[in-house]
Amino acid sequence: MTQVRLNSIRKTFGDTVAVKDVTFEIDSGDLFFLLGPSGCGKTTLLRMIAGFSTPDAGSIHIGGRDVTKLGAEKRDTGMVFQSYALWPHMSVHQNVAFGLKVRKLSKPDIEREVARALELVRMDSYAHRRPNELSGGQQQRVALARALAFKPTVLLLDEPLSNLDAKLRIEMRNEIRRIVDELGITTIYVTHDQKEALSLADGMVVMSEGEVIHKGAPRELYHRPRNRFTAEFLGETNLLAGDIERHEGELRSLRTMFGILSSTTADADAPSSGKVSLSIRPESLTRSDPTTPEGHNRITGRLLETVFLGEVAQHRVAVGDDAVLKVLEINPRERTDTKPGDAIELAVAPEDVVVLID
Ligand code: ATP
Repeated sequence: MTQVRLNSIRKTFGDTVAVKDVTFEIDSGDLFFLLGPSGCGKTTLLRMIAGFSTPDAGSIHIGGRDVTKLGAEKRDTGMVFQSYALWPHMSVHQNVAFGLKVRKLSKPDIEREVARALELVRMDSYAHRRPNELSGGQQQRVALARALAFKPTVLLLDEPLSNLDAKLRIEMRNEIRRIVDELGITTIYVTHDQKEALSLADGMVVMSEGEVIHKGAPRELYHRPRNRFTAEFLGETNLLAGDIERHEGELRSLRTMFGILSSTTADADAPSSGKVSLSIRPESLTRSDPTTPEGHNRITGRLLETVFLGEVAQHRVAVGDDAVLKVLEINPRERTDTKPGDAIELAVAPEDVVVLID
């Protein structure tokens, strides 16, 4: 069931078009990500969903209700800000109770809901502390409790983990996933960190310059990016040009600088002839050996360099006169048979040669 629907949303600030004609839907109970580089319009979109600003054009529906012109307090959304925005002079308890008092709940109801929210984020034993007596991760939990205390139907998170160190970020990622699952609450999460989105999202949109570039599930976006931007933003990739020579069902044969490559990735709306761009992830290229399946593409090159990083090794392989492929080897073994300058044959499955669509 659709919980949030954005229809042709547009927002400008003077000459800057921050959000251009954005349309998509979010299913009920999903942890949904708005992902994109700094300045692409994520926060502007989130603030419009929250009701802190109004779109210049388009409509926003939450739970089937048109909320486009409603104020934030009437939308039933709870927001967690990047800076936490806790009141420094209030205790944890008072911070969480604040929104409930504004909504004029009775004292016993406030006590019950504050206790429930603090328990949910595992901060019940810190109720009497002030925010400056808490760690960053604990402040983040209080901000979450405050947003959840009045049981909103949609939770909005604006880069909630960006002020935390790497270890705490991973811990809080798991906490957010647990809380979202426990409550079954539709959550919209803004980040520019693709690992955060890939590891947590049920669904996501990749945004660039105010537009939605690609919408889908994390694995779909990673393995089948529709365009260059998504392919590069979600991880390392090798981009190359190809010319479709033959097209039979889902199989395309492409002439490229690496020879003829077969691809089976194209969707129905992918081009069936002409020039296209291709994306091949570095980890999908392996050294070909006798166990390599027959239908795999083979690319012969020359090893330029290997950087050993522990669990992975990065190789650069020259192909032809001026092409270089990035190859990522998982669980790398020390090999004495190939050193820089030596010939190397790589293999890649047709399903990993991705024809970009737009
Ligand atoms: P970040 O990850 O850095 O927070 P973002 O993707 O959330 O970036 P937005 O904050 O939505 O991006 O900004 C989108 C564009 O709109 C930017 O060019 C920004 O400078 C502009 N912008 C945002 N808010 C305002 C404002 N109040 N006045 C003028 N321009 C604004």
